[in-house]
Amino acid sequence: MSLKFAAGDLTIHRIVEEEGRFLPANDMLPGLTPELLAENRAWMKAAGALDDSDTLILAFQSYIVKTPHHTILIDSCIGNHKPRPTRPTWNMKTDDRYLRGLASAGFSVDDIDYVMCTHLHVDHVGWNTRLENGRWVPTFPNARYVFDKAEFDYWTATNAKAEVPPFVDSVLPVVEAKRAELVGNDFAIGDHMRVLPTPGHTPGHVAFTFGRGKDDAVFAGDLMHSPIQALYPELSPKFDVDPAQAAKTRRGFLERYCDTDTLCCPAHFPSPSVGKVRRKGNGFVCETVS
Ligand SMILES: [Zn+2]
Repeated sequence: MSLKFAAGDLTIHRIVEEEGRFLPANDMLPGLTPELLAENRAWMKAAGALDDSDTLILAFQSYIVKTPHHTILIDSCIGNHKPRPTRPTWNMKTDDRYLRGLASAGFSVDDIDYVMCTHLHVDHVGWNTRLENGRWVPTFPNARYVFDKAEFDYWTATNAKAEVPPFVDSVLPVVEAKRAELVGNDFAIGDHMRVLPTPGHTPGHVAFTFGRGKDDAVFAGDLMHSPIQALYPELSPKFDVDPAQAAKTRRGFLERYCDTDTLCCPAHFPSPSVGKVRRKGNGFVCETVS
């Protein structure tokens, strides 16, 4: 399983917290008809993206990007000790797989200069914080945490109506610790990192592009969850807040990177997760690189 990639002057590491069965394909993707699934079952299974019971296989992982100047962690996964009653494998988790993954990639929590979240869903903010003496504190003590302001505002309003636990235990404590930067779409880090707005999955969902002057790599978050959505960009998962906008954003994104050298790194594609976008019929594939 490949966990390390090079792109331009970047080194990219995958830190996998969990990989396995998630939801039945036709439950997660309401537009996926039995006929369409039958047509695509063989290659999906060969790609490790679907199991024998037609359940989607997803990875839950962070990416760490090492630029010549910074070490940047993108999306902080699930986290430990967090009450997540709707998903048993996430609920009050105590395993050390994530921190071991960080260590075996050669990093300690002190090494991370920035933590950046593509959006503020439960599986993208978890390791933002860890439990210390009964309090949530930033896991990465030296990091600035970058949240998109529109995304933060959306969850602030949602949380005001009914408490959103991951926002309360994994985002607000970072703000209280004064480690958060709420940024607009003009945010950049030097000449190496830029924001690409990709709304739809959530209103303030963003991708992050890296590379000096050109996009050597793009971190797409939950713009798409499974390779079948590259081939059929209009297949929006039931989690997309605005499925129509998400579909439009997905096709636009794939068109933008199609037949370029940009390494596309979605959050949840099964291992090896990353690839380069190529055209196939009226859709696209994310071709793996060695
Ligand atoms: Zn996700």
